[in-house]
Amino acid sequence: MSFLQVRNVYKRFGANEVLRGINLSVEEHQVVCLIGPSGCGKSTLLRCINGLEEIQGGEIRLHGDRITGPGVDLNALRRDVGIVFQSFNLFPHMSVLQNITLAPTQVLRMPQAEAQAKAMALLKRIGLAHKAQAYPDQLSGGQQQRVAIVRALAMEPMLLLLDEITSALDPELVSEVLNLLRELAREGMTMVLATHEMGFAREVASKVCFMYEGVVHEEGPPEQIFTNPQHERTQQFLASII
Ligand code: ADP
Ligand code: MG
Repeated sequence: MSFLQVRNVYKRFGANEVLRGINLSVEEHQVVCLIGPSGCGKSTLLRCINGLEEIQGGEIRLHGDRITGPGVDLNALRRDVGIVFQSFNLFPHMSVLQNITLAPTQVLRMPQAEAQAKAMALLKRIGLAHKAQAYPDQLSGGQQQRVAIVRALAMEPMLLLLDEITSALDPELVSEVLNLLRELAREGMTMVLATHEMGFAREVASKVCFMYEGVVHEEGPPEQIFTNPQHERTQQFLASII
């Protein structure tokens, strides 16, 4: 069984069937990129994997354990699976340091000093140790997004979900965020990203999944998807964005 296994998952919002029997498998240390037109269900799928949405059919397993349906410990799931969203979701009234130490101290019950030391090491790593006491609105968008990523890493998740995390950034700030993701990929972090950064997907992805109307319509190694897509929808989508 794969590290992450999405099996025949259905998700409806009222009459709107958004995920229509979707299947996806992710191996440990893989970087899987979800691409596809707006509204095809990328964000919804990521939110289902993180337990932020209930599903109506199928199941999702992580490391063999069922993480959907009755009896699932959502707190445990959210410790294991980190998620970073498009719009910076740092807590605006907390310093950068407080943002990063909050979950480790509250959820993992890590002693404050240990959490702070760990947060400082993470900040140092992204070159933002000098911003530890700053508030989110004193940072650039790219800095905020990198802090959001290390905040997720502070929980030592086994899987990191990233939902179009560069889409709201000014173009000149995108690369600093992608560089951090490249590093994490090299270190073997298992990641699933919804992304419009095709160059990044092409370079870093283990696998690219083209989603269309709530299913994975075509998937394969980036080289194949980008240079030799087999399905007409995939071809049309790629032609529309280049
Ligand atoms: P994508 O991320 O690929 O653009 P989404 O997963 O955001 O797609 O959205 C897929 C569909 O689900 C859209 O039709 C959207 O309107 C709908 N949808 C997403 N979230 C909700 C929600 N909380 N309530 C109702 N409809 C939603
Ligand atoms: Mg989305």
